[in-house]
Amino acid sequence: MPNGDVVLKVNNLKTYFHTSRGTIKAVDGVDFEVKKGKTVGLVGESGCGKSVTSLSIMGLLPKHLAKIEDGGINFNGVDLTNISDRELRGIRGNEISMIFQEPMTSLNPVFTIGQQLSEPLKQHTKMNKLEKKKRIIEILTLVGIPRPEGVYSQYPHQLSGGMRQRVMISLAMLCNPKLLIADEPTTALDVTIQAQILELIKEIKDRTNMSVVLITHDLGVVAEMCDEVIIMYAGKIVEKADVKTIFNLPKHPYTKGLLKSRPGMSQSGRKQKLESIPGSVPRPDEMPIGCTFAPRCPFAMEKCFSEKPPLYQLEKQVSRCWLHENEGKEIF
Ligand code: SF4
Repeated sequence: MPNGDVVLKVNNLKTYFHTSRGTIKAVDGVDFEVKKGKTVGLVGESGCGKSVTSLSIMGLLPKHLAKIEDGGINFNGVDLTNISDRELRGIRGNEISMIFQEPMTSLNPVFTIGQQLSEPLKQHTKMNKLEKKKRIIEILTLVGIPRPEGVYSQYPHQLSGGMRQRVMISLAMLCNPKLLIADEPTTALDVTIQAQILELIKEIKDRTNMSVVLITHDLGVVAEMCDEVIIMYAGKIVEKADVKTIFNLPKHPYTKGLLKSRPGMSQSGRKQKLESIPGSVPRPDEMPIGCTFAPRCPFAMEKCFSEKPPLYQLEKQVSRCWLHENEGKEIF
């Protein structure tokens, strides 16, 4: 059971996909917690397991394919892996909300914004029609939508991408969730709108003291938004630390690679050339025997190709790498 300050505690989560080509360990023993009012970033390239982690928390995995094989997801004292679908539906969209990258795939094109925003209020509250409309206008105003009464009667295709994402945020905020899971919420937006949407999430978070799990591949977004950062690679956590440590004192070679591949400015103000990490994330059915990052790692040693590194507790972070063998305490 997490302590009072901890809203979400994910404990040794293992989510596997069972396919005709064998078992894919999409999430393989992930541990982290999210405290009240804090933002935790789940970071990595696509295929690292971050979205499967969030879908496991939301209970939105495709049931015929994926299964939580082990571990617990404790939300406010309730183990989400151990409750009925009905109980989970009662929590989802109410106490835990989620926003996705592309609002057009989440908003239904044939219903007006007002109709779509009424749904969670119908499901989770006893408000009458008028109270619902009042709450919807209030929330559309809160997320900075101009002419909220007009937007109430509009369809998603009549709004810009930025406005649609604001509607998605209002949908997520309707029932005052304790936890927001935001999966690449700004990737599909242009840079100016991206900054506005991030600012909006931050503002709402500060005002309501909600907790946020932010899934992103973008370390610029992490620097803006997060308190704690979890770097994932091939279904496992490879480094976990507070945001300052990740940027100032990264320890894992993958984290260092991600930091080098983010766009930056030189002192002269010119854009610096990016160094990208060579190669790509291994296919889940072709995982290397030793460290999964070894084929891409500039520090790889012989041992790295044959033995899996454990997670080491270092002074300011945990990191999964043989380089810490003489420096850290093995935790598992
Ligand atoms: Fe690189 Fe070896 Fe560390 Fe893996 S264990 S990240 S291959 S140095």
